[in-house]
Amino acid sequence: PQISNHMPTAELQALDAAHHMHPFTTNDELTQKGARIITRADGVWLTDSDGNRILDGMAGLWCMNIGYGRSELADVAARQMRELPYYNTFFQTTHVPAIALAQRLAELAPGDLNHVFFAGSGSEANDTNIRMARTYWQIKGQPQKNIIISRWNGYHGSSVGSGSLGGMKGMHAQGGLPIPDIHHINQPDWWSEGGEQSPEEFGLARARELEQAIETLGADRVAAFIAEPVQGAGGVIIPPATYWPEIQRICDDHDILLIADEVICGFGRTGNWFGSQTTGWRPHIMTIAKGLSSGYQPIGGSIVCDEVASVIGGEEFNHGYTYSGHPVAAAVALENLRILDEEGIVTRVAEDTGPHLRAAWESLADHPLVGEAKIIGMMASIALTPDKSARAPFAAEAGTVGYICRERCFANNLVMRHVGDRMIISPPLVISKQEIDTLVERARRSLDETH
Ligand code: PLP
Repeated sequence: PQISNHMPTAELQALDAAHHMHPFTTNDELTQKGARIITRADGVWLTDSDGNRILDGMAGLWCMNIGYGRSELADVAARQMRELPYYNTFFQTTHVPAIALAQRLAELAPGDLNHVFFAGSGSEANDTNIRMARTYWQIKGQPQKNIIISRWNGYHGSSVGSGSLGGMKGMHAQGGLPIPDIHHINQPDWWSEGGEQSPEEFGLARARELEQAIETLGADRVAAFIAEPVQGAGGVIIPPATYWPEIQRICDDHDILLIADEVICGFGRTGNWFGSQTTGWRPHIMTIAKGLSSGYQPIGGSIVCDEVASVIGGEEFNHGYTYSGHPVAAAVALENLRILDEEGIVTRVAEDTGPHLRAAWESLADHPLVGEAKIIGMMASIALTPDKSARAPFAAEAGTVGYICRERCFANNLVMRHVGDRMIISPPLVISKQEIDTLVERARRSLDETH
């Protein structure tokens, strides 16, 4: 058949279910309830195959920072494809888009994060980080310093390496994760796990689990600690203010590399260029992807400090991807960075639309189902609860109420995701104040309809 947007939805859904295996999906269910088919998008609005206009509260998968429909990026991609659609950056060759993007990222990144190793995605970039951190210590004569510590309920990607760094138990249950020498500590989720402690006490206690782990494993065996400044896929877990300064102190004291996974938090999401700036710490390596190109092209990478880059640079690093520094992706990313900068989008998140979303989002805290409503920049979550004061979870199977709420959001033409019984948003950073009001109104209506 000639498959196009003009086919009836049910036929497209049947073909999809017959041939397309979706990520993170029970594919058999798609034969009964077809996938929602998105046909077009503009700004923060998606259009589906039935003509519904849906407010995308998740910016795709946390990535459409400048919003949909920016033709400048299409023009840059077309121009680059005509001029040089591909060339590799292996074996002493390079090209202008990779040079220009690396230079711009070095300029944007804080401190001496001056060197970029490109990848095709966040998962690939974190695989690079595993190998780079271990290789760094190996070259420095400490090959036994190879354990990487990360956190339960963190997310770092879906490849074998990055999925091992992640602390998603459902992922570890399948396909042989984690690889050896990855160690997980607990997350700083005060709402669910803080018990009687104040958030400040809890933040310190959870940070000190890192120190305990380092002492148990031996500092001479720990290469690096990796974490998201704010956990995204884990449910927008915003750590208490005491957490990151203590983590920084611990890594400094024990000579451990600190890796910020900025795949979601980077490029304006938290109101600064990078989430580690908003949360106050100084990584040696940052993982980037998603907002780097606002999802218009698949591209990721690692931004690396002078010290690590100079050690790694002393030997051949036997690592790289065919699409490392892909010229079309790099050119598109550079144009995306230009737009973020010239349109003042990051500043707007910090000073204008971000505070507007904060006020609207926090107003949801008065809803009977809502425990805490938390937000940083333009990523936010609410914890659903039957008992606010006890911070109790629902007795029913975890996630059921969240799932119902998400379905109600869908019915109200709002994309909001649920992680267990947490509802989360991460809208395009270009969302207007009026659209923010629409988003929060629809969220409240969906909560009202959640029984
Ligand atoms: N790191 C974080 C923090 C992420 O949220 C993600 C994806 O959601 C990844 C890494 C993996 O990126 P990708 O899906 O591009 O491989």
